[in-house]
Amino acid sequence: MASNAVEETAFGGRYTLPPVEIITDSPAEIRRKQERVRALAKERNAVLLAHHYQRPEVQEVADAVADSLKLSQAAAKTDADVIVFCGVHFMAETAAILLPEKIVLLPDLRAGCSLAASITPEELRKWKAKMPDAVVVAYINTSAAVKAESDYCCTSANAAKVVAAIPADRPILFLPDKFLASVAARQANRGNIVAYPGYCHVHKMIRPEQVTEIMEEHPDIELLLHPECGCVSSCMAKAVDGTLPADRTFFLSTEGMLRHIGTSTSTEFAVGTELGILHQLNKKFPEKTFHPVNPDAICAFMKTITLDKVIASLETLTPRITVPEEIARKAKRSIDRMLELA
Ligand code: SF4
Repeated sequence: MASNAVEETAFGGRYTLPPVEIITDSPAEIRRKQERVRALAKERNAVLLAHHYQRPEVQEVADAVADSLKLSQAAAKTDADVIVFCGVHFMAETAAILLPEKIVLLPDLRAGCSLAASITPEELRKWKAKMPDAVVVAYINTSAAVKAESDYCCTSANAAKVVAAIPADRPILFLPDKFLASVAARQANRGNIVAYPGYCHVHKMIRPEQVTEIMEEHPDIELLLHPECGCVSSCMAKAVDGTLPADRTFFLSTEGMLRHIGTSTSTEFAVGTELGILHQLNKKFPEKTFHPVNPDAICAFMKTITLDKVIASLETLTPRITVPEEIARKAKRSIDRMLELA
């Protein structure tokens, strides 16, 4: 992969991490709130879409729980009047772009994303000006304004597929996740990808030494790593040189992890991603054991969405997410190209 064309900067200054609220509701109170959510959803003809990193009680009340790609597809197909996005801002924007006539709600506007904050449309325009012949591939974790400046959108589930669909002689500017860029480049066997130096502050914390430690503690388990993890470049190299078992090391989106575990004969897995995924894993595969590679990998943005916030959002039909028409029209091109390839 070509070296970075943009110097790494302190992206941390661009966002404020909200505090993670500790919920002390009793199981009966959680059930009562979930019933209220369902009743309101019916009244409003609303569909609730939840990401795998949401709180368990929010996942349990949702109509669909999935990764960004599947949630975009679910949003594109819904006939509900209202979409409640239990996820983060760029996901709600994607739904608003695909379905401008619907009411798209994000129950807490603090639900941002450090990765999406890594790049602004102005920065992208400057970057493109340096390589005008390049094709721009934007990870779905970007603002609508950045997607509008891009040729293709992708998710962690289909990044390699999108990259592979671009003619081999065209250089690619891949943004904003430098770790996903390295996985996509290797999986698609592309040498002409220039990666933007962005990252997710949660996945960056999943470090090579934690992988080494967990593999030493459980030498026979399978290792499942999300491509946004800070350890992916080192782990890809180690899987090649034999330091990690190549046949038991996988780089997968959250949806890919669920699929893989369902077909694997292994019963124990090290999981490198945000902890919210463990709810679905333990629910779907109670006979299997999962160890988080980093037990502190918690996304404060995702955890802003609580049952109380979902109830308030459905009661008031706020906060509503909209995207200016011109930006939405341009951003939709890159999202549609991705969905065509999905
Ligand atoms: S886990 Fe990272 S990429 Fe995902 S929403 Fe949180 S900050 Fe963004």
